[in-house]
Amino acid sequence: MKHLIKNGTLLLWNGTEYSLEQKELLINNSVIEKIGGITPEDAELCEVTDAENKLIMPGLINLHTHVYMNFMKNSADDLPFNNWLFDRILPIESKLNKDDFYWGTMLGCIEMLRTGTTSYLDMHICENECAQAAMDSGMRAFMGKCIRGEDLYEKDGDFSKALEEQEKYESDLIKFVLSPHSVYACSEKMLSQVADEAEKRNMLKHIHMSESKKEVDDCLEKYGKTPVDFLESSGFLDEKTIAAHCVKLNSNDIDILRNRKVNVATNPSSNAKLCNGIAPVSEMLREGVNVCLGTDSAASNNTLNMFREMNIFSLIHKAKKEDATTLSATEVLKSVSINPAKALGMKDEIGIIREGSKADLIFVDLKANSLFPNNNVVSSLCYSANGSEVESVMVGGKFLMKGRQLTVIDEERVYFEIDKICRKYL
Ligand SMILES: [Zn+2]
Repeated sequence: MKHLIKNGTLLLWNGTEYSLEQKELLINNSVIEKIGGITPEDAELCEVTDAENKLIMPGLINLHTHVYMNFMKNSADDLPFNNWLFDRILPIESKLNKDDFYWGTMLGCIEMLRTGTTSYLDMHICENECAQAAMDSGMRAFMGKCIRGEDLYEKDGDFSKALEEQEKYESDLIKFVLSPHSVYACSEKMLSQVADEAEKRNMLKHIHMSESKKEVDDCLEKYGKTPVDFLESSGFLDEKTIAAHCVKLNSNDIDILRNRKVNVATNPSSNAKLCNGIAPVSEMLREGVNVCLGTDSAASNNTLNMFREMNIFSLIHKAKKEDATTLSATEVLKSVSINPAKALGMKDEIGIIREGSKADLIFVDLKANSLFPNNNVVSSLCYSANGSEVESVMVGGKFLMKGRQLTVIDEERVYFEIDKICRKYL
């Protein structure tokens, strides 16, 4: 299937900065084949989309989330972390059945698509159903069953289930990563086993790291090291590691992240909501750490809207540093596109518009009141957009939303099922 996208404004990256260009796009199956210079022969048998007044930009990448929790949003707020987790979230999670995970994930996919996210990195706790929902949504997903415990190879443990899921669902759009939960939920032995398996299988590792003061204090007490230092000495950290949160870091931790080329998924809303603080993002960027943005779950955020996250990300760090030059709009935009693409091993394939990249694109309405006038489009994406400006979404050359209508997911059915789930548990 070929698509010709006409009359749109492309957001292009030249290696240093973003620019806007009025050029046609030719998409052949899942890939951008040509940017401009499209001949009448090229355009033969194409499905044509008129993108007048639309910004065509790379779909956003959410580098840390737990999508199935979407139905829990606004069900446990204004609570201290331990009450939030142990009194509210975990008791609900323990009762969920497989269908609940499926519909919860579908609800999250709707929210992500409607607000311009095309790829996400998911840590889930229910093998098969979350991957099935990702597949049914048409989105690009990187996922892994959360691994916890003492020994990776225990019978019927999380690892064996994670591998079974990978075997069943891995595809061009769905890739699997190894997801040990954290230093407090996995033994030292298990973390080394995960590192060995990841290397052997050429897989990414996705872990929560240094999220809270308690996590760091407990790790210091148990191992005499910070979580970063401890994972470094376990041989866990490398350029194929994606570490979520990284809030409580000292300067030695940041040196380790830089030296090991660890990718960081920062989650400013979740860290603020759960009172864990503000990550040292400008310090990490200064050291050249690859900083990417994630929402965390909708139970701790309470949305998967990456435009809102970009806005909070930018403002919270300017306020913290009392310096308006902290985190430019360009750096923020990179943190949801170019940087996470690199973290996911898909540099130049997603997160950027170039010939040969995947056609994961969003169409943003430049005439939307929130963005108009278009004095500086990169700034408006960071500071003015709220996600409602996303008019169409394409993943791998296929429209999943067109003219604000979802084309693959049956939205009414999802809401019907979610209503039932909420009546059952909340
Ligand atoms: Zn998380």
